[in-house]
Amino acid sequence: DLLVVGSANADLVIGVERRPAPGETVLGSDLAVHPGGKGANQSLAAARLGARTALLARVGDDDHGRLLLETQRAAGVDTDGVLVGGAPTGVALITVDPSGDNSIVVSPGANGRLTPEDVRVAAPLLAAARVISVQLEIPLDTVAETVRGRGPDTRLVLNPSPPAPLPDEVLAACDPLVVNEHEARYILGEDAGEGPHAWAPALLALGPRSVVITLGAAGALVADSRTGSLDHLVSPKVEALDTTGAGDAFTAALAWRLGRGDDLREAAAFAVRVGAAAVTARGAQESFPTLEEVDAL
Ligand code: ADP
Repeated sequence: DLLVVGSANADLVIGVERRPAPGETVLGSDLAVHPGGKGANQSLAAARLGARTALLARVGDDDHGRLLLETQRAAGVDTDGVLVGGAPTGVALITVDPSGDNSIVVSPGANGRLTPEDVRVAAPLLAAARVISVQLEIPLDTVAETVRGRGPDTRLVLNPSPPAPLPDEVLAACDPLVVNEHEARYILGEDAGEGPHAWAPALLALGPRSVVITLGAAGALVADSRTGSLDHLVSPKVEALDTTGAGDAFTAALAWRLGRGDDLREAAAFAVRVGAAAVTARGAQESFPTLEEVDAL
């Protein structure tokens, strides 16, 4: 039902007393290795909710790649579309200090080698999907090829993260474009205007059929060009332990529900609950809820 085209990374995390200054060496905690990357996060989040999900991604022929494949398979994700080799698995090197501030270096590795040709070869996967969800941790050409290769009835959900300038062809295909406040500001630039209620119509004017702006604890704003509606979906109040991956859980939930026939507002009302559940536990993939956990919220 859902195809995620995107990145798969190993997150290598070391706790430090102080992040190193240039030229400095500091000692840190034992290394923790977590499966991550926005693509792998989304496919795993959807599968944990019960969605039939496939992942189109590229990992290296190495231990990190095997970790990613195993965690996806264990969650029930169809990994036939995960290509292996060409470069080491993408890695995020993360140092985090006691106050929670972090410094991150990302090596895209194999994610940067997921090519438009890889997407063309995966045409049957694209054709079979009701919804395709993409992000920007893979080459923009590959995103554009995904947009072109989707079936006539396939809905496209794009989270432009990390934000980058988007071709009109890609913007026009988004239904919805899903952004957080930072991404909304980036895309709108100088003309952003004051606050999410101004951003939503400004984003729609760039071409997407619909727009979702996630607002952290405040939930999400949904704008649909077909109905002209602008709705605010409130997030349940929860004790936030760790917001890592909340946006990925939100987008995965939204994409899955759209594929099941929900309208945008219904899908977003479900997604804010999934996002809220994800912030009540630590980690990214470790924190993604099951349907039972969302219902219990
Ligand atoms: P991102 O992780 O991309 O920055 P947001 O911070 O907007 O995205 O979070 C995505 C979604 O996760 C929100 O729309 C909301 O449903 C949920 N969420 C995030 N932070 C909180 C919070 N503190 N309390 C409740 N829900 C939250």
